[in-house]
Amino acid sequence: MRAETEGNPAGAGGASPRVVVVGGGVAGLTAALRLLDAGAGVTLLEASERLGGKLRTGEIGGVRVDLGAESMLARRPEAVGLAREAGLADALQPPATASASLWTRDALRPMPKGHVMGVPADPASLAGVLSEEGVARIAEDRALPRTEVGEDIAVGEYVAARVGREVVDRLVEPLLGGVYAGNAYRISLRAAVPQLFAAAREHTSLTEGVRALQARTAADPRTDPVFMGIDGGVGRLPLAVADTVRARGGRIRTGTPVTGLARIPGGWRLTTGTPDAPESLEADAVVLAVPAPQAARLLAAELPAASADLAEIEYASMALMTFAFRADEAELPQGSGFLVPPVDGRTVKAATFAGRKWRWIAEQEPGLHVVRTSVGRHREEEILGRDDAGLLALARRDLKAATGVDAEPVDAHVTRWDQGLPQYPVGHLARVARVRDQVAKAPGLALCGAAYDGVGIPACVASATEAARQVMAARPQGDPASGPSGHAGE
Ligand SMILES: Cc1cc2nc3c(=O)[nH]c(=O)nc-3n(C[C@H](O)[C@H](O)[C@H](O)COP(=O)(O)OP(=O)(O)OC[C@H]3O[C@@H](n4cnc5c(N)ncnc54)[C@H](O)[C@@H]3O)c2cc1C
Repeated sequence: MRAETEGNPAGAGGASPRVVVVGGGVAGLTAALRLLDAGAGVTLLEASERLGGKLRTGEIGGVRVDLGAESMLARRPEAVGLAREAGLADALQPPATASASLWTRDALRPMPKGHVMGVPADPASLAGVLSEEGVARIAEDRALPRTEVGEDIAVGEYVAARVGREVVDRLVEPLLGGVYAGNAYRISLRAAVPQLFAAAREHTSLTEGVRALQARTAADPRTDPVFMGIDGGVGRLPLAVADTVRARGGRIRTGTPVTGLARIPGGWRLTTGTPDAPESLEADAVVLAVPAPQAARLLAAELPAASADLAEIEYASMALMTFAFRADEAELPQGSGFLVPPVDGRTVKAATFAGRKWRWIAEQEPGLHVVRTSVGRHREEEILGRDDAGLLALARRDLKAATGVDAEPVDAHVTRWDQGLPQYPVGHLARVARVRDQVAKAPGLALCGAAYDGVGIPACVASATEAARQVMAARPQGDPASGPSGHAGE
């Protein structure tokens, strides 16, 4: 077995701690950047040959598009801040239109305005999307006794109790599904929609709580865009961060899966490489920025309780079917696309008219319409067993039924995201707290990424920043030669 001590050569024998980051998605790359800023010597190890994880660009009909995440919440500062720091300030671009539709009850209907994750303040705003009985049921909320939410409750259970199942099935479900690809009757209100959880504790009536939230939003003086994309694709972000990491002296190795992690005096030993030619690396600290199942495997020996909790975190798999149509053959409806409530029994969950939503896509080839559709929800993933041709045919069938577009695409592409999105069921936050308690007992170890504090890019960036802070703060003060950074390797 070959062994080496990892880190910035500048740190050899000095006070600079050597930290290995495992995972080259946006979380791992951010952690690497923050560790370098804090003075660590950093090596990032990525299993695949490609950096970026769920952020990835590709081409369809000669047009560059995102094949993974495509939009960043800009009302939180972390993701757009990272893009600016990585030199992408001029490439940030807001969506050209925010108006989307719901494909429900056999028609494309404008997405109602004035709701919080699908919960309306005014029942009348859902006319057409809901049946008349469904709209009438919302008003009962004002007269119902309090719904106890305790420490946590499923979004669907709470919202259905207050304003009826139709609101959940036709609005909350597709909106939440767009973020988690999960089931509203399992997803945690506290973790996924914390503002509604707080409102549920404060107000007896949910519609009143939503009104209070809206009043607060209306008083917010910010007029800047809520979301941002990146000209050339959000998939550029991790690559730009990787360039910054390298420029600041960090090492990045792709094609290097980490298969083992063991505590050694003053630090950690990581195993990589193939079974025939294993390689061992030593570090003062390790940041695991991998999905929960992989983190569970790596921690099985050293932190079995945390590993068991991590192994319980479930993921949803999905596939994106992206098409390029000749614009003169495919007349798309207005707006950025549509969401589909699962209760309507369609196959696709959503469609994005990418060129309508993003100017940078339309400008590349005005003669083409790029449309991205998605399938697959947590525990409803049988559809993903179909081959690519089967998935493309199903997506085209639904697209035709929703929009009338029946043209032959000039190009079509399937992107499969197995284990794409972690699920945040009721109790998720308690599970994460237990994992963190265990990890805190292992000095020089931290976790970050989509499995913990939010699946969106800003939340992943924030968790990475916090992981870097933790491992640097936990460093024992004193003789730097007492840990692996003082060893020459074995
Ligand atoms: C289809 C899709 C669309 C999305 N759209 C949006 C969106 O529009 N906006 C938004 O904010 N969020 C979106 N998300 C969510 C967001 O993209 C992800 O939650 C986020 O990118 C996850 O980043 P991460 O670094 O935590 O994990 P990942 O991106 O999963 O990165 C983890 C990395 O670790 C590597 N790895 C795993 N095991 C090992 C090992 N043993 N050794 C070394 N490396 C290893 C993996 O290869 C991978 O590169 C979307 C997600 C999906 C799947």
